[in-house]
Amino acid sequence: MNKQSAIRTELPGPKARAILARDAEVVSPSYPRDYPFVMSHGRGVEVWDVDGNRFLDFTAGIAVCSTGHSHPVVVQAIKDAANEFLHISPDFHHERQVALGEKINALAPMGEPVLSFFCQSGTEAVEGSLKLARYVSGRSRFIGFLGGFHGRTMGSLAFTASKYTQQQGFSGTMPGVTHVPYPNPYHPLFAGEDQGRAVLDYIENVLFTSNVPPSEVAAILIEPIQCEGGYIVPPDGFLPGLRELCDRHGILLIFDEVQTGVGRSGKMFACQHWDVKPDIMTLAKGLGSGMPIGLVVAKKTIMKQWKPGAHANTYGGNPVCCAAALATLDLVEREYTANAAQVGAYFMERLRDLQSRHSVIGEIRGKGLLIGMELVSDRASRKPCQGSCHAVRKQAFLRGLLLLSCGRSTVRFMPPLTVSNAEVDEAIDLLEAAFVDARAQ
Ligand code: PLP
Repeated sequence: MNKQSAIRTELPGPKARAILARDAEVVSPSYPRDYPFVMSHGRGVEVWDVDGNRFLDFTAGIAVCSTGHSHPVVVQAIKDAANEFLHISPDFHHERQVALGEKINALAPMGEPVLSFFCQSGTEAVEGSLKLARYVSGRSRFIGFLGGFHGRTMGSLAFTASKYTQQQGFSGTMPGVTHVPYPNPYHPLFAGEDQGRAVLDYIENVLFTSNVPPSEVAAILIEPIQCEGGYIVPPDGFLPGLRELCDRHGILLIFDEVQTGVGRSGKMFACQHWDVKPDIMTLAKGLGSGMPIGLVVAKKTIMKQWKPGAHANTYGGNPVCCAAALATLDLVEREYTANAAQVGAYFMERLRDLQSRHSVIGEIRGKGLLIGMELVSDRASRKPCQGSCHAVRKQAFLRGLLLLSCGRSTVRFMPPLTVSNAEVDEAIDLLEAAFVDARAQ
């Protein structure tokens, strides 16, 4: 479609406005709804609203639609499974669940056999990982990271620390969690060049000597690239150093790959950029291309310690979700991880070019198709500029480009892993215009 004609009505259009009015009467206001976008349908990276306006979706449903909207192979797998049965419960057995467990066992970054626990969402996967760590270690303390996001149920919420609004009003979450800073080279908290080393030293020489006995720590929970917190890529030595620290103290290392996993970073799992092996890993989001599925993946030596009944659920291993995940993993493994690496590198290059023309862009960072563009008041102070972040995203929306933000003022790009260089070019044109419009506001 001709780019000029992508947006045909005012936004929101009349049909969207009518649905938004009904929505306001019956849907919880707790969802942080950034745009009045009312979806009609989508294909690949393109989505249409109910008024016939066409957008490029560079959010992929918060990094969920890994294979693009309604990939025909995934849709067919879902139809085939649905025709056979919709549900049986994990108290029984079925072939697709076993096949998915086998696939994960073959792909997992642990470097040794793994077992999987099946659930429906990221937060549930995190809860399962915490219960497993407590169960096998007999320890009750945990370490999490400021800026981290792990979900909104009472265990995962105890770790979530990217915005205070996620915590406000919910005090009394799971006890025993101590937060430490996530190493952020662009906004260094510690003196010295190596922020990763500084955080490791802080844990070892400050936290462990003054407040948290390491012998009581069950696990450290971390995103290998911090996502909601600002798409922050840790310095190279940090995750290997964290692995060593955990090994020294008998602490389990949990990687939350809910957002970074399944090809998004240009590798199947983000931790593989540093060749660091977790003990436990959580997955969800991109795993099912939109179908609700999450996994706790753990070294077999660890998860086999769970006794029957120790942890279970009703919907785990849903056959339709397993079918979607099997089709997704197959596509991502064969084609889209490499595409994420290649198009992601091209996208970064185009964004760096944009940066050379717009001084409000402080930093471009990321891996694969997990890219953050931090907007600042000026490059010298690096002061986050929330106003620009909001204005640019709003103008991009009005021109037909869906974007979300993360951290304090970072525009984040997480298109489907199927995105092409041509679609990136189109997004860059829309973004360039959005920057000009935002400045004129
Ligand atoms: N962990 C990470 C790293 C996430 O980004 C998210 C969601 O954004 C979650 C966990 C929670 O996932 P869900 O919203 O499916 O519960």
